[in-house]
Amino acid sequence: EKFSFYETTGVKTTCPYCGVGCQLELRVKNNRIMEVLPLNEPPNEGLLCVKGRFGFSFVHHPDRLKKPLIRKEGKLTEATWEEAYELIASKIKETKEQYGSDALAGLSSARCTNEENYLMQKLFRAVIGTNNIDHCARLCHASTVAGLAATLGSGAMTNSIEEVTAADVIFVTGSNTTETHPVIGSKIRQAVRYHGARLIVAEPRKIDLARDAEIFLQIKPGTNVALMNGMMHVILEEGLQDQTYIDERTENFAEFKKALTGFTPEKAAEICGVEAEDIRKAARLYARAAKASIYYAMGVTQHSAGTEHVMAISNLALLCGHIGKEGAGVNPLRGQNNVQGACDMGALPNVFPGYQRVDVPEIVEKFEKAWGVKLPHEQGLTLPEILDAAEAGNIKFLYIMGENPMVSDPDLNHVKKALSSVDFLVVQDIFLTETAEFAHVVLPAASAVEKDGTFTNTERRVQRVRKAVEPVGEAKPDWIIITELMNRLGYEVKYRHPYEIMEEITRVTPQYGGINYYRIEQQGLQWPCPSKDHPGTKFLHQGRFTRGKGLFMPVVYQGPAEETDVEYPYLLTTGRILYQYHTRTMTGRVTGLNEIAPESYMEVHPTTADKLGISDGEIVKVVSRRGAITTKAKVAEKVKEDVIFMPFHYAQGAANVLTNRALDKSCKIPELKICAVRIEKI
Ligand code: SF4
Repeated sequence: EKFSFYETTGVKTTCPYCGVGCQLELRVKNNRIMEVLPLNEPPNEGLLCVKGRFGFSFVHHPDRLKKPLIRKEGKLTEATWEEAYELIASKIKETKEQYGSDALAGLSSARCTNEENYLMQKLFRAVIGTNNIDHCARLCHASTVAGLAATLGSGAMTNSIEEVTAADVIFVTGSNTTETHPVIGSKIRQAVRYHGARLIVAEPRKIDLARDAEIFLQIKPGTNVALMNGMMHVILEEGLQDQTYIDERTENFAEFKKALTGFTPEKAAEICGVEAEDIRKAARLYARAAKASIYYAMGVTQHSAGTEHVMAISNLALLCGHIGKEGAGVNPLRGQNNVQGACDMGALPNVFPGYQRVDVPEIVEKFEKAWGVKLPHEQGLTLPEILDAAEAGNIKFLYIMGENPMVSDPDLNHVKKALSSVDFLVVQDIFLTETAEFAHVVLPAASAVEKDGTFTNTERRVQRVRKAVEPVGEAKPDWIIITELMNRLGYEVKYRHPYEIMEEITRVTPQYGGINYYRIEQQGLQWPCPSKDHPGTKFLHQGRFTRGKGLFMPVVYQGPAEETDVEYPYLLTTGRILYQYHTRTMTGRVTGLNEIAPESYMEVHPTTADKLGISDGEIVKVVSRRGAITTKAKVAEKVKEDVIFMPFHYAQGAANVLTNRALDKSCKIPELKICAVRIEKI
C-alpha cells in the first residue's frame, strides 16, 4: 500500500526480536504498521537489522489467533473467554485437589514483558502454590546465570553495548554475532575497522566476523574449555597475568593454577583442532590489552558442561584483570528480546524476582508478606525436568505462555510424548504454534506492538514497550489474561496498567528498586538501579565484584555427552541465521524473510560431501540416536570436515529431532550444540 510519512503516526517502542533491544519508531496508519524506522539513541544508535526493519507484517497476518479455542471431540473449536477461563480454573482446582500443587507446572516466556513474566511466576507461586515455573532461558543461558553468579556474583553482561567500541581487544567465541545479534555484530565490526580494536574469533564455523579477525581459531564444537585452559597456560607460563589484580580482587588463584598444570597449548590444540601457535598468539593478544572484552553466546553455554565453559571464560578475564573497567568484561549475549527480564522477574524454579532464593526462609517470608499468602519453600522443576515429569505422568497440568518447545527443545520425539502425556495443556500465544496443536485450550495473546510494558535487553537496560495498534480479534495482552485468571481462582488483583505491576516489581526486586515508567520514558535504565535517584549501572564490578571477590574456579575439559562412532560418524552442531527468528512463529509469517531463507538445510564441507557422494542442493536424510529428518545439503567450506551445521528454526526438517537432551548437572541446560549423526542418501 502506498502512503506518505505525513499520513502516519509514530510510536516509539523496543524491537520484539532479539536481546539487543533496538529502539525504533513504528509508523502507523489505520491500525496498521506501515513502516519501521530506527531511532538514533542507545542501544542501537540508528542501526536496525533486517528483522527489526522489515519483520513486522506478522502482526496483521490472517493466521493470528483471534478467539480462545477449546478442544471438543478432538478438535480445537472457537469458544468464549468465559468458557476458556472457567475450564482452565476448574482444571487447576481439580488437579491441585487430586494430585497436589506440584502436579502443575508453567512455562513463562522470554518473548513477553517483565510485567507479564512477573505475573506468571506469581500465578504459579502465590495462587497455584508451586515453584514449577521456568522458561527457555534454561535452554540458552542457564549456564551463564549459574557460572557467572558463582564466579562474579551476577550472571548478566558486565558491560554496555556502547562500550563495544571502547575495547582494545575483542574476543568473540561461541557467537555468530552478525547473524544472531546483528547490531552488536556491526558495532564489533565498527570497533575493528574504525576504532583500532583487534579481534580474536574462536568458532567452529567460518562466520562472517572471522573475516575481520586478526586471529581466527576454527575450533571443534564443544572445545571451548580446552581453548581457554590452553590460553591461560600460556599466560601463566609467560607471566602475562595481572598479578596485582589477582592479589587484590580475586580468590582461589592457587587451586585454579594447579588445575592448569600440564594443559599446554599443544594439548589444547590437539583437542580443539587448531594450531598451538595460534593459541599462543591469541593468549598474548588478549593478556597484553589494556582493555579486552569477551562476547559469547550459545556456542559456549549449550553443553552438558556449559557451566564449566562459562567459568573458564570468567577465569580468563580474572587472570588478566579484564573485568570492572569501561570496555573490558565478560559479556554473555542474551538471545531473546526479554530473556534477561524473564530471568530478572523470577520465571525460574529456584528464585523469586531479583534472583532471591526460594529456599531461604527470610526471603520466602518477605514474599509471603508482599503477596499475602503462604508460599512453597522447595525449588521447583526446571524446563527439561518438567517435560521428563510430564512424560512420566507426574505433571498433570501444563500452562505454556509464548513458548514453542515442539521446535525449540532437544529431542522433539520426547517433547511430543511429554506434551501428549499431560491431562491438560494450556497454550497462550499469538499463532497456533506446533506446540499449541497439542493443547486442550488455546488463548489468543496480543503481540508486542499491541500492548504496553517493558523489556530488559542483554545489557540490563529496562526499556519501554508501547502499544501501537489494537489487538486483533479478541486477543488480549498476556498480563490481562493472567490477571483475569488469578481473580477467577480467588486471588484478587487489580492492575489498571502495566506501570502498576512495575511499581509492585520495584518494591520486591532490589536491582529494579529505582525504576519506574516516568524515568524510562525517554531512555531505558540499566540495573542495578536500586533507588529513585540512582542513575543506573553502565558496567558491573567496578572496584568490587557483586559477590565481593572474583572467584577462580578450576575447570577440567570434558568432551561432549555423545561422541561420534562408526554408526554416527559426524558431529552435528546447531545455530541461528539472520533472516529467521527462533521457532519462526513471527518471521515464518513475513514474506520477504522467507523468500531469502525458506527452509531447513544442513551445511557440509565439500570433502565430506564428496566422500558421501552428495551434491549441493540434494535432499538427504540425517539420522541421530533419537530420530531422523530429511533436509537439503548445502555444500560449503564454512564448516570443518566431519562437522555438520543446521539452523534450528524450522519445524519441517527440524534439527531438534536429532539433538541430545543430556543435561549440565548443575544448571540443567541441555546439550543442544552437539550430537552425533550419520548422513544417508535418499
Ligand atoms: Fe531487533 Fe535485534 Fe535486529 Fe535490533 S538487532 S533490530 S533488536 S532483531
